[in-house]
Amino acid sequence: MTSQTLTIRNKSGTIPSLPDDFVWHPKQLKEDKQVIADMRTELFGLANNSVPLLTSASYKQSKGTGRKEIYLALAPHRLSEVLTTPGNLWTACTHSTHECRKHCVGLTAGLNKFPNQLKAKIIRTRLMLLHSDVFWRTVLSELFRLQLNHGPLAVRLNAYSDVDFSPIEKFVREAIGTASVRYDFSKVKSRFKGFRYDPVLSHSKQNINVDLGYGPLKNDRKAPKRELFSHLPKGYYAPIVHLAYSGRGPKFDGPEELNTILNRGHNVAIITDELPTSKTLFGRPWTNADEDDRAVYKYDGHYLVLSPKGSLTKNNKFVYEVQS
Ligand code: SF4
Repeated sequence: MTSQTLTIRNKSGTIPSLPDDFVWHPKQLKEDKQVIADMRTELFGLANNSVPLLTSASYKQSKGTGRKEIYLALAPHRLSEVLTTPGNLWTACTHSTHECRKHCVGLTAGLNKFPNQLKAKIIRTRLMLLHSDVFWRTVLSELFRLQLNHGPLAVRLNAYSDVDFSPIEKFVREAIGTASVRYDFSKVKSRFKGFRYDPVLSHSKQNINVDLGYGPLKNDRKAPKRELFSHLPKGYYAPIVHLAYSGRGPKFDGPEELNTILNRGHNVAIITDELPTSKTLFGRPWTNADEDDRAVYKYDGHYLVLSPKGSLTKNNKFVYEVQS
C-alpha cells in the first residue's frame, strides 16, 4: 500500500459518505484483508495480517439483555487529531471538553492504557478515513457474522468517539437485523432537539425506511422490544439508534438544561460523585447505568448515572454533585 496524505478538511464528526452503489458482502473480501494488514505494517510495523475491527464485550451479557455487546473503538479526540495534517484537522470528538479529553476512558481506563490498544484505535480510524469502503465492508461483514453466530446484538459504534454515523445506519441495520439494538452516546446537543420518538430522518433529510428500526409494525414479530414502545402514539417510531445525551459537566450542562433534554424523552448520561439516595435526581428519574446496559434503550426521560472511571475522580469538574 502506498502512503497517502489525509485530506479530510472538515473539523466535524461526520465521515465521508459512501457512494450510492456501495455494497457489502457477508464474507470479508481477500483484498480488503490485505489493505488492513498493510495499514498495520505501514503505521506500526505490526505483522502483515488482518485483524477484526470490532470488539466483543461478552462480560457484559450477564448484566445486560443477553444480547452480545459489540463495539467499535476508534481513536478519541487527542488520538484522532494526531492523524491530521496542518490545516486539515479532523477529530472524532467535536464537542469534547478539556476535562473529558483529559480523562477520556478511551485513553485512561482498563486496557485502553496499553500502547497496543492505542495503536489499534489509530489503525481503525485511519482506515475509516482513508479507505472507508474497505472499513465499512469489513465492519458490516463482521456484524453480519456475529449476529449469525450469536443472535441479536447490542451494537455501539462510538465506544470512544462521537461521530455521526447516520450515512451508514441503513447498512448497519441490514447487517444486524431488526432484533438487534443500535445505541450510542453523544455530546452533540443538536442531535437531541426533537422528541425521542420522532420519525428518524437520515442525513439527506429523507425518512429512513421504518423496517430498518423498531417501528411499531403490526406484523413485525421479530422485534423483541416492541413492548417497550407500546405506549407510543400512532405514527411515532422508536429511534433507529438509541442515543443518549452525554452531559459535559455542570459548567457546560447544568441540570436545568439537561432536564429540557429529558423532557423530550431522551435519556441523559452523567457521571456523579455518588449514587442518589432518593428516587429522583435533579427532580427527574434516574437509573444506575453501570448496573444495566439496557438503560439507553430501556428507559426514556431518565438520568443514566455512571461512576467516575479511568483517571477521573469524584472531585473533578466533569462530575456532577448529587447532593448539590
Ligand atoms: S470522553 Fe467522549 S467526547 Fe470526550 S474525548 Fe473521550 S470519547 Fe471523545
